[in-house]
Amino acid sequence: MIVAFLGAGGTMGLPMARNIKAAGIDVRAWNRTRDKAEPLAADGIEIASAPAEAADGADVVLTMLSDADAVIEVAEQALEGAGHSTTWLQMSTIGIAGTERCIELAGERGVELVDAPVLGTKQPAEQAELVILGSGPEDARDSLKPIFDATGKKLMWLGEAGKGSALKVVVNAWIVAVVEGAAETIALAEGIGVDPTDFLDAIDGGPLDLPYLRLKAKLMLERTFTPSFRLELAAKDAALVREAAERDGLELPVLEAIRERMEQAVPDHGDEDLAATFLTSAPDD
Ligand code: NAP
Repeated sequence: MIVAFLGAGGTMGLPMARNIKAAGIDVRAWNRTRDKAEPLAADGIEIASAPAEAADGADVVLTMLSDADAVIEVAEQALEGAGHSTTWLQMSTIGIAGTERCIELAGERGVELVDAPVLGTKQPAEQAELVILGSGPEDARDSLKPIFDATGKKLMWLGEAGKGSALKVVVNAWIVAVVEGAAETIALAEGIGVDPTDFLDAIDGGPLDLPYLRLKAKLMLERTFTPSFRLELAAKDAALVREAAERDGLELPVLEAIRERMEQAVPDHGDEDLAATFLTSAPDD
């Protein structure tokens, strides 16, 4: 199997491409900023200079890019000369409408689309411990198993293409709610003179405690926001939640307020971890 990995220099793409190669699968990597994918050459991965070059003769074209526009732009080039035997494995987070655009493009190009966004951030990607939310033609579940095994610890198979992205939108609603909730809770504690570590001690080990809260609270307390998941992408995901809710006429004002709050911090902190949304609410030091 030959995999064309498009977006191989990203936070998620780099370790995923490396793990696929380590599982004995041939990988051709492409990244818009070539330098970011260059470290993969040391793993024996060929670096291509264009999406179409990476995809030429590949069995699987894998996209792991920021958003729907990037995915469509790159896939249009990559699938230029693709044949019916090519599978497009779309693993970026692009929401429901974005996935519909991919289904349309795949149909036009006569390729099979598998919609398989992932849960887990940089470290789980490095450790091949992602949770994969797969959906698409049933036979692809088996043919892509080596890639799923190489990158994930769990595969959920959810039905026709689009179901994976729908579930991802739901999970992302939870992620942004937890992080913004943590941000404002810690800001409140600091602002009213309560030691935030007392808050964490109070819930320690009980039903209100949460590993993700611990992870993000640490960054907020230390005010170091080295990105595992960039705030700009989290704001994009919050917008995908809104888009999904609007399509079905749902009114979800708290999630909308979270989206606005995250968006507010993007100009100054978009390249930092999403925990940096805390800085909008934090009392001045
Ligand atoms: P990232 O580090 O920001 O990487 C984004 C990738 O997309 C880079 O390869 C970037 O290329 C490429 N890209 C952006 N715009 C492009 C364009 N117009 N044309 C071509 N390439 C373009 O993002 P990431 O954290 O790896 O996330 C990738 C996807 O996975 C996103 O959809 C994200 O929401 C999702 N995701 C991320 C996490 C996480 O924790 N990080 C977890 C689950 C899912 P350059 O290097 O040239 O900028």
